[in-house]
Amino acid sequence: MQVTRIAYSHRINPGKYAALFEQARRLGQVRSEVWQRYGSVSGVGAGLRDRQVRDRWLSDGTHERFGVLANAWKETVRDAMADIAANMASAKAEVRRAITRRTGDLQERKRLYAALNADRWAHDPFLARQMRKHWKRGKNRTHNQILVRADKHHCVVDGRGRLWLAVPGLHRRQMVRIPLNSTVAPTGTLRLILRDGRVEVHHQIDAATMRTSQVPCGRATVGVDKGYSEVLTDSDGNHHGTELGTLLRAESDRRKNKGQRRAKLRSIANTARARGDHAKADRIACNNLGTAKRARRRVRWEAMVRTETFTAVHRVVDKAATVVAEDLSKTFAGRRSLGKNTNRRLAAWTKGITAEALRSVSERRGSVLVHVNAAYTSQACHRCGGLARRGGDRLYCTRCRVVWQADVNAAINILRRLGDSDIALHTSRQRVKQILQERADRQRIRLPIQDSSPPLVGGERSIRSAQR
Ligand SMILES: [Zn+2]
Repeated sequence: MQVTRIAYSHRINPGKYAALFEQARRLGQVRSEVWQRYGSVSGVGAGLRDRQVRDRWLSDGTHERFGVLANAWKETVRDAMADIAANMASAKAEVRRAITRRTGDLQERKRLYAALNADRWAHDPFLARQMRKHWKRGKNRTHNQILVRADKHHCVVDGRGRLWLAVPGLHRRQMVRIPLNSTVAPTGTLRLILRDGRVEVHHQIDAATMRTSQVPCGRATVGVDKGYSEVLTDSDGNHHGTELGTLLRAESDRRKNKGQRRAKLRSIANTARARGDHAKADRIACNNLGTAKRARRRVRWEAMVRTETFTAVHRVVDKAATVVAEDLSKTFAGRRSLGKNTNRRLAAWTKGITAEALRSVSERRGSVLVHVNAAYTSQACHRCGGLARRGGDRLYCTRCRVVWQADVNAAINILRRLGDSDIALHTSRQRVKQILQERADRQRIRLPIQDSSPPLVGGERSIRSAQR
């Protein structure tokens, strides 16, 4: 398993940065060319491979236009083709859903799936129509990246212990040396991203070599629930990643505040422009409405959330051999449906990070991640199974006369879904509700019989008698 690591440049000389930026710009043109020529049905859609594109370009001289070294454009073509393929794959996922809606005939479905997977969809009218509908013609928006193949870069350490990464420039045998803020030399294929005067060096490392991967997982089976104020709550009643709520709230407030102030400034600038005061309008646009600082802040904030999330998941895996959870990657709400609500949009984003952390940490440390159906786990009382009333972070069960901590209750319910023979992963919400109600009713019928048995201890008796 591979994970991405990022090293950053340390005070890179502006001349070097400009040279790299120019190279990235030219490679952006290579990307655009690939998207434009092969980004649709006749290109990647027809099963075209990057090697074929390279051969075509070499024979017709397309590559000479860009003024970059051979290796740089070849790697870029490969990367752009992979982007297009990913774009097509996401369209295919939509089409698969359309197939399910169209026919219940298993034979027919199988035929359609097979044609879709083998890129033979152009010959089937239904599939072709669907693909045209969902595969929106994309366009390249990447103009700040350089890919460097593993054998084209190397690192040296200078007398003061600083690590320098040497990558090819625009001309043969002319390397650009980038001072890094890291002491670990990046390996494998590198992706250099140029942002705000800084070079990010993205590279993959084998997760098995990471220190955290060598700590074995625990032995227990633990259910976890994704909360809002913390990353996870487990079925033993422990909360993990409790700083998440604060991080989310602070960021959401901040974005709202900033957004309002920016809107005010923008309106002042617009008024000035309408009045003919272009100097003032430009000044505001340049000094107050830039995005560089905002982008940098966001990167920092996201890193903090990731750290909090991954640490929390590690704490769960410390004791668990099996982690039972809801499939969080399935609960993504679209950007549009959340609208302007920053808080909920951020919360949806952190869900994705938690899903990633659960998958990645489990795989690295050898625990098993099991997804279960989480319908009504946050509303049903784990003792009697009846649906209870939620109030803040509490859950009031009127039947048992007990108040539960809502997230802990949910985590216990999730854990129990693992051995539940009636509620499978894809059982509908409606059916789950029905099953839960049936169970609760059965339990209620049994209660009077239990009451004729030897007297119960004080507390419980008062609950039972109050119920009658
Ligand atoms: Zn109950």
